[in-house]
Amino acid sequence: MLDDVDWRGKIFSGGWVAAHGGTLPVTEPATGEVLAEVGQADAQDIDNAVQQAAAAQPAWAETPGPERAALIRRVARLLEDNRAEFEHWLVREGGAIPPKAAFEVDLVLAELWEAAALPTQPWGHLLPTSEAGRESIARRVPLGVVGVISPWNFPQILSMRAVAPALALGNAVVLKPDVNTAVAGGTLIARLFEAASLPAGLLHVLAGDAPAGAALTEHPGVAAISFTGSTAVGRLVGEAAGRTLKRVSLELGGNNALVILDDADLEVASSAGAWGAFLHQGQVCMTAGRHIVLDTVADEYIDRLAARAAQLPVGDPFRGEVALGPLINAKQLSNVDRIVTSTVSAGASVRAGGKYADLFYEPTVLADVTTSMPAFREEIFGPVAPVVVVSTEDEAVAAANDSEYGLVAAIQTGSVERGRAFAARLRTGIVHVNDQTLNNDAFAPFGGTGASGNGTRFGSAHSWDEFTQWQWVTLREQAHGFPF
Ligand code: NAD
Repeated sequence: MLDDVDWRGKIFSGGWVAAHGGTLPVTEPATGEVLAEVGQADAQDIDNAVQQAAAAQPAWAETPGPERAALIRRVARLLEDNRAEFEHWLVREGGAIPPKAAFEVDLVLAELWEAAALPTQPWGHLLPTSEAGRESIARRVPLGVVGVISPWNFPQILSMRAVAPALALGNAVVLKPDVNTAVAGGTLIARLFEAASLPAGLLHVLAGDAPAGAALTEHPGVAAISFTGSTAVGRLVGEAAGRTLKRVSLELGGNNALVILDDADLEVASSAGAWGAFLHQGQVCMTAGRHIVLDTVADEYIDRLAARAAQLPVGDPFRGEVALGPLINAKQLSNVDRIVTSTVSAGASVRAGGKYADLFYEPTVLADVTTSMPAFREEIFGPVAPVVVVSTEDEAVAAANDSEYGLVAAIQTGSVERGRAFAARLRTGIVHVNDQTLNNDAFAPFGGTGASGNGTRFGSAHSWDEFTQWQWVTLREQAHGFPF
């Protein structure tokens, strides 16, 4: 799809245009090769985009729902027909193994089909009225211009889960993808909507760094910001949105517990642990970052997890068949290494991995970890499984809840009732019994608590709350007088 347009070095804002902010290299993390250049937005580009979006949005809001739904369905079909190109960029620019790329495109498709169903659902309800002869209606209206800021780890789904429902419900969108995945999470999405004939001005895609994100967040013409990224940046976005009185959705970091109870099947539990900790090099908000194990099964769990880690091949996912690709960049690598090194210095032992070459970090299992060590306290965002051993179920609950984050948890147990009772004691936005932590359904309420987010939820019906606002409308056949 990209070959059909002149996208190189450009942003998508009223067509493919040069950015005032210049250009950015698109780098393959596995090799360091520069694959292309895209435009880099600055505050002026953001301002231009918001103004165009605001001008285009009212007519889109008036467009009949079935037409908006048809547009989203065309986008989904184009993605189905061109998915190889989308997966290619996820692999080369994002460092994904091909199955992760295919999984992500499947998630995007599911998101699009759900979004396509929104415009033809009821937009409000008739209310009772306190005055005879008056009709009273609550109706949903679009917000206007929605700003979407997305990260690099699952760049297509984390952009599309906001872009598609926001557009479906009559908004215009300005999307700022992360510079590490500007093509996978931005350019390709722009191209899809362009090829599907979205009317001009309704979607702008501008890659850029913190200044572009801050300009979007501060812009008075933006009604709402949908942000997915780190907790540190989420706090800044939340502050700016508060100052400018914008609606803000914050989907932030996670430090998720995978709890292994003493009646778990350890063959299955260690497989869940390896998948949860190492998929996409642990660079997922839902990664199993804290493995909490009851003492009677701890040695066997650690042995099995370490054996699984040791046999997972790491390397260039475009040129070889590997289980783990590279970390996204040197900054990410040095943070993972800092957390592992300082945790080992504090007394933890390395049972697998703990080493790296270039951006390739080996899947790592740390034993003898306590709840005060950095690998337990911090979100690592790398392929590291720190294991903490506890002696009672109460201690396991306390350890699982001992985090400022609250995105997801998972429990492995031989008894679903024991799992259900354990789950009820956790304060996460999501919890899975006899599973691992990485799960997504486009129609389930996705979101976290505490430092993981501000209570916002993604997922089909929840999009109504995120991307529309209520208007109370009353109607009388005839106006009437008042005592004054
Ligand atoms: P990040 O916060 O560094 O960047 C996210 C986005 O914010 C990028 O587009 C970036 O350019 C932009 N940005 C940076 N500074 C900004 C500013 N001052 N104002 C506005 N925007 C700004 O995060 P990251 O490193 O790209 O992503 C990893 C983080 O995202 C992890 O913490 C991960 O857990 C989290 N995450 C959360 C979810 C979720 O759904 N809860 C999903 C995926 C990732």
